[in-house]
Amino acid sequence: MIKGTIVPIFLPYAGCKRRCVFCDQYAATGLDHLPEIAELEAFYNVWASRGDVGEVAFYGGTITGLSKKRLVEYLSWARNKLGGEGSIRISTRPDEIDKEIVSILKEFGVRHVEIGVQSFSDSVLEAANRGHSGNDAEKAIRLLKSSGFIVGAHLMIGLPKSSLFDELYSAEQLVKLNVDTCRIHPTLVFKGTALHRMVLQGRYTPLSLEEAVERSSAVYSLLKRSGVRVIRIGLFLEASALARLVAGPHHPSLGHMVKSVAFYKVALELARNEDHIEIRYDKRYEPIVFGYKRQNLEKWKKAGIRFSLSPTSDEGILTVNGEDLRWVV
Ligand code: SF4
Repeated sequence: MIKGTIVPIFLPYAGCKRRCVFCDQYAATGLDHLPEIAELEAFYNVWASRGDVGEVAFYGGTITGLSKKRLVEYLSWARNKLGGEGSIRISTRPDEIDKEIVSILKEFGVRHVEIGVQSFSDSVLEAANRGHSGNDAEKAIRLLKSSGFIVGAHLMIGLPKSSLFDELYSAEQLVKLNVDTCRIHPTLVFKGTALHRMVLQGRYTPLSLEEAVERSSAVYSLLKRSGVRVIRIGLFLEASALARLVAGPHHPSLGHMVKSVAFYKVALELARNEDHIEIRYDKRYEPIVFGYKRQNLEKWKKAGIRFSLSPTSDEGILTVNGEDLRWVV
């Protein structure tokens, strides 16, 4: 766990040699150009004024796809700013990781590498114009893990040609590869992207919010039960990004919905075994127990499940019929 402020540096399309069908980095990052070091300085100072900096994180684009000179320029700037304290995180593509890149990342103190895996299904990757295979992702993750990095992955839900089966398979692969963290992103459609054209041509239908929550919660449960830390569910979109969003399952409470549905389902499994459920929970977990707009309570009632709720002041408690379900939150 990082102590201190995380300074997020966004590098829209940096080092990307192709465009993935869903990608609108200008919406995702709020920037329309690759920042120069002077701009990074100003940005860093704003964040540093809020508290001690624990990490500099380079998001967006493919930083390791930049020229080595540019990559080193960004990393050495971050290392100098951190002055031996804190760590550096980057996100990149699976096919822009090799031994030479790994040794540069190590040399400059990168600790956490997030890989845009998106899917392990080659047909899904092809339909998204990713330009790499599932095998490339596996090789990159193995290399990074064996080199001692904290390794994260990004998975997408509802890409063209993707099914729940593909998504669970992809999550299983991540568990087998022992990744440390994962972000789950239901696919959104932004104005002007290839995916937007596919929607207009009737070649792609985005998931409804309900479908996205169902599929994301299945993936979430699989990862969490296996000890993978899920660090984000759904994209955070600022007003400018929302203006470019044309379709897809976006909701500001998506993460809460996904966790609530995961809790509902696992409690239902336990009810089937015992005919009723007794839920003991730390009050702060009440929103997950009750579900979005109390939907869990309504669904258990409709399903004829008898349930009793026992809020407690015991910190961190979340059990259903005595089974510890803290992994859900
Ligand atoms: S590699 Fe990542 S940043 Fe680059 S176009 Fe694809 S999704 Fe966007």
